[in-house]
Amino acid sequence: MYIVMLGPPGAGKGTQAKKLAEKLNIPHISSGDILREAVKKGTPLGRQAESYMKEGKLVPDSIVLELLKNKIEEEKRGFILDGFPRNLQQAEELDRTLREKDKKLDLVLNLLVSEKAVVDRLSARLTCPKCGSVYRKGDASYERGVCESCGVRLYQREDDKPSVIKKRIKTYLESTHPLVDYYKKRGVLRDIPGEGSPEEVFEKIVDSLGL
Ligand SMILES: [Zn+2]
Repeated sequence: MYIVMLGPPGAGKGTQAKKLAEKLNIPHISSGDILREAVKKGTPLGRQAESYMKEGKLVPDSIVLELLKNKIEEEKRGFILDGFPRNLQQAEELDRTLREKDKKLDLVLNLLVSEKAVVDRLSARLTCPKCGSVYRKGDASYERGVCESCGVRLYQREDDKPSVIKKRIKTYLESTHPLVDYYKKRGVLRDIPGEGSPEEVFEKIVDSLGL
């Protein structure tokens, strides 16, 4: 079974993909992980990817797709993909790659989370300027505003500020809206209400798939 996870940043895609992968007994593959793995192994593709990453540039789709092609060969029973595709062109290329291997995408899970929920979730994080520890709402150190190991005052990272999060969500919606339509037309899209605890959301996925 080949499954793609869609959803805005902070929707819990990675968490849900991991749980579902365990349940279906197929691997969870994130585009970031396969790049890091290739770099670590020092394969020719990994070395190419590394040269882009070192310069802080985006790794070209062609390299990611080539790595995915290898994964399709390795993982005969399928996988759950998270972090790719991010736009229509990548979706078409993923389809082409699967077709070349006589496979097809079975399902796209679209986690629906409101902008407010994402902003609330992602902005409720404080970071220690000294050791980099991250504290979430509910942690004693978050409430006190002081790092438990260094005793210094915590701060909110630029990336965790509501205005920056809103911009990231906007970018996501602009590039993935066409993707949602594309998969809807193909009849593989399944909308999943993504608010609530990770356990509640997972239960909705399990119900929706009739597992
Ligand atoms: Zn600290």
